[in-house]
Amino acid sequence: MVCEVGLDSGFLKGDGATCLGVSSAEMDQMAVSSSAYQPEDDEFDRNCPRICGVCGDKATGFHFNAMTCEGCKGFFRRSMKKKANFTCPFNGNCSITKDNRRHCQACRLKRCQDIGMMKEFILTDEEVQRKKEMILKRKEEEAVKEAKKPKLSEEQEKLIALLVDAHHKTFDTSYSYLSQFRPPVRDESKMEESEQSTSTDASQNLCSADSFGFDSFTASFPEGCNLSIDMSELPKLDFSIFGMIQDGTNSPMRSEKLPMLPHLADLVSYSIQKVVYFAKAIPGFRELLADDQIALLKSSAIEIIMLRSNESFSVEDMSWKCGNDEFKYDINDVTKAGHSLELLEPLIKFQVGLKNLNLHEAEHVLLMAICILSPDRPGVQNRVQVERIQDGLSETLQSYIRAKHPPPGNRLLYPKMIQKLTDLRSLSEEHSKQFQSLTFNPDCNTHLTPLVLEVFSNDVDQ
Ligand SMILES: [Zn+2]
Ligand SMILES: [Zn+2]
Repeated sequence: MVCEVGLDSGFLKGDGATCLGVSSAEMDQMAVSSSAYQPEDDEFDRNCPRICGVCGDKATGFHFNAMTCEGCKGFFRRSMKKKANFTCPFNGNCSITKDNRRHCQACRLKRCQDIGMMKEFILTDEEVQRKKEMILKRKEEEAVKEAKKPKLSEEQEKLIALLVDAHHKTFDTSYSYLSQFRPPVRDESKMEESEQSTSTDASQNLCSADSFGFDSFTASFPEGCNLSIDMSELPKLDFSIFGMIQDGTNSPMRSEKLPMLPHLADLVSYSIQKVVYFAKAIPGFRELLADDQIALLKSSAIEIIMLRSNESFSVEDMSWKCGNDEFKYDINDVTKAGHSLELLEPLIKFQVGLKNLNLHEAEHVLLMAICILSPDRPGVQNRVQVERIQDGLSETLQSYIRAKHPPPGNRLLYPKMIQKLTDLRSLSEEHSKQFQSLTFNPDCNTHLTPLVLEVFSNDVDQ
């Protein structure tokens, strides 16, 4: 009947020891409150019968060091306060039940003491008052602490949920789409054969607007906007990532020597379309001028592809792992797609640095959105409008880090993330340089451009 668990000396001293998982603060509250039993507290149910150790009535919790009912609690307190001295009219051995507990006060009190009830647990009126004040003060302090805790606004929570959702819809971590592309070829002697066997089918597949829905991007712009020139530049942008390389003599290599190019060019084309979808999901993006949307996408697409590829990047073997070994790309593979080390070395360094930040998914998607909504991109007309969207994203990111990213990872995390955006600009600039060079070389240009033009010409009336 009696719960003896945890009623140790530690508890008596009030040094914070707990009984049955009840904190000392709660114990304090019990000593004061007359209704200490908390029905939501399962600990009681599991570990102690909720039965009065004195009379067998339903107990309401621990009172003066024992599990008792309200009646026996009051009886014990009153008896102690008036220093009562009861005598048993019978033989001093009455059994106390719920119904007869009033009959013999002496035996009831003896029972109280037998089960461990102690007068030391009875507080004086002053002590009760002091405890009440202490509890109140503690509650107030907790409320202040809670109010001071950095929180995300409802709007910020919504924004994050929306971006995470958009990212999930545009970043397929199964990478199953890779098998739809022209296959990766790592041995250049096999390249010609591979090109012949796959280029027609795969290229047609990729250039079909239906397969990736790129037409829905152009369709989303207001009617009357002349997008043909701008949109036609997007494929070039895409293609140029992998579309050129400089050897020692400053003349681009011929694409025959770039066996990985078709596959990775397909991958980048695909990724650009996903970036476009993601951008469109950013609140406010679609309200921008169509020209500004295109300007932002044109300059950020490469940077976002680099950012999002970090998800598959593995620091252990410095490669992008997108499934089995066939779709695992290391620096050597990407070189075979026409990248120069001038771009690749800092890119790998960037990937490692970004990986080491251990960003939460929310931070990852916010960083991508902030990157896209950069008001200082060339060709942006309404910079104020872009800046306003970016400011909201930046504030959300900072709030998120304060509220959700625990130390030590949160230390200087925001400035470190912004530094990554600066790194991306350098990477993008390096790419741009190579692209310039490519367009000046008609041999390489004509050799490589048809692939890219093929990808997008169906979408654009030229
Ligand atoms: Zn009782
Ligand atoms: Zn008695």
